[in-house]
Amino acid sequence: MADTKSAAPRVTYATLAAGQTPEFNQAYDEAIERVKATLGGTHSMLIGGKEVATKETFADTSPSDTRVVLGRFASGTRADAQTAIVAARKAYESVWRDLPWRQRVAFVRRAAGVIEKRRFDIAALMGMEVGKNRLEAMGDAQETADLMNYYCDQVERHQGYEVPMERLSDAEDNRDVLRPFGIWVIISPFNFPMALSGGPSSGALLGGNTVVFKPASDTPLTGLVLAECYGEAGLPPGVFNYVTGPGSSVGEELVTNRDVDGILFTGSREIGYEIYRKFSRAYPKPCIAEMGGKNPAIVCASADLDAASDGVLKSAFGLQGQKCSACSRVYVHRSVAKAFTEMLLEKTRKIAIGDPLKKENWLGPVINRAACDKYAKFVAIGRKDGKILAGGEALKGDPYDHGFFVRPTIVGGLPKDHRLMHDEMFLPITCIWEVASLDEALELANRSDYGLTAGLFTTDEKEIRKFFDRIEAGVVYVNRRAGATTGAWPGINPFGGWKGSGSSGKSSGGPYYVAQFMREQSRTLVRG
Ligand code: NDP
Repeated sequence: MADTKSAAPRVTYATLAAGQTPEFNQAYDEAIERVKATLGGTHSMLIGGKEVATKETFADTSPSDTRVVLGRFASGTRADAQTAIVAARKAYESVWRDLPWRQRVAFVRRAAGVIEKRRFDIAALMGMEVGKNRLEAMGDAQETADLMNYYCDQVERHQGYEVPMERLSDAEDNRDVLRPFGIWVIISPFNFPMALSGGPSSGALLGGNTVVFKPASDTPLTGLVLAECYGEAGLPPGVFNYVTGPGSSVGEELVTNRDVDGILFTGSREIGYEIYRKFSRAYPKPCIAEMGGKNPAIVCASADLDAASDGVLKSAFGLQGQKCSACSRVYVHRSVAKAFTEMLLEKTRKIAIGDPLKKENWLGPVINRAACDKYAKFVAIGRKDGKILAGGEALKGDPYDHGFFVRPTIVGGLPKDHRLMHDEMFLPITCIWEVASLDEALELANRSDYGLTAGLFTTDEKEIRKFFDRIEAGVVYVNRRAGATTGAWPGINPFGGWKGSGSSGKSSGGPYYVAQFMREQSRTLVRG
């Protein structure tokens, strides 16, 4: 992929609308053409610095048009995963573990620089592979570089996590040092294939660990680009290994192999919790599982309804509702329910749906056939037990027939403890319930096994305080038009879940993240 320099402004999730300037669109158009010229190859895994091919391969197709084959990828086996773990161990013991932390920081900063330079090509590729619109895709690419740089800043701020301690006599030198665990497995989901691979892997690498990385089978090409970026940054062979193939074989080996020291998984609660339960065998090992969400927005009687409906719309339907932070529950005070719902419906009807590579489209396809089937199932449930207020169908005809395009959907009239209040869905579907008070809304909002993000719209200071104190979620926003429940950014809004949404209680893009990839060693040296 070509290096790209552009005068286009820096894009974050909260500044998306401002980002789409003519310069941005021109650079994006050029990137699409460059990326298209590279598609269709067959790709190996990268293990110990070598390409490892397999007889069996699988196709990576675009969800916008499944006739477009982006590439073919190795169907890795358990044996391939074992080879990658051995390569990672060798690189850990021979180079990475003993490297001074400043050199590790320099490698990761170089990788961030490579990603930043290539960000238009990376974004265009994610537009094709995930179905992200232009600005969402650019956000993912830029976030990756920003996560890496933020983690480097943290390591520098803590001087490599070596802390001089008190002493009982002058002869003593006492230090507290954070040291690597060894080998970390990073397993990522399809929806943020760059940021949720580059962020966690850079955290593990900065902690002095080597990495075996498995991308989701829907997004192996973006994963390969990440491996290339680390390669271009000069990372020694075996420090970052890239394996592809089904979670049920290659993934299963990575989570059960005794020689893996830590795992960072991002994905569904179903799989994450299973991994969490089975990872530690002989002794406890760190398993950071970042999982799903069932994120509520609460709209109070005093809310600015224009801001609230903008914020809910962006969070419910951005990236086709396939964000762990997507807003899939809205609790609105009954005195403003009618007005709020009408505004939201009107804005939903105006959403442009289509090929996400085109600048005019905001909503692209959902990721695959299974997601389409799940959409039909949830819509049928919503229709049976409540009322479909908007959407509720797949799009047909040209240009939708070869992709997975569905209409953004709003469901009302469901009973309060209905399963659509509890199931994640992960689709462009949101449900609205009327409530009598903030207390009732908070009680319903917290009646979920998940606890990732939440939003509130009100002008009442007492309500704001109560919300911050009582809501059970790791990332909370008040009066955020740019996204009621979505749009966290490294160093600005650390991102991590409570309860069934996350196992560690620490957040990515936050001050405590990198330390999770290390273990404490208290060192006492007595002289003389
Ligand atoms: P999945 O849980 O289906 O898959 C995630 C990853 O796990 C994939 O790489 C998958 O590989 C792998 N995997 C599947 N089975 C196993 C196994 N038995 N052992 C090891 N690895 C396995 O999630 P999705 O990709 O569908 O992503 C969507 C989910 O991710 C949603 O629930 C969303 O909320 C969550 N998410 C959470 C975030 C957070 O920060 N909390 C952020 C983003 C998403 P393969 O593709 O080959 O099956």
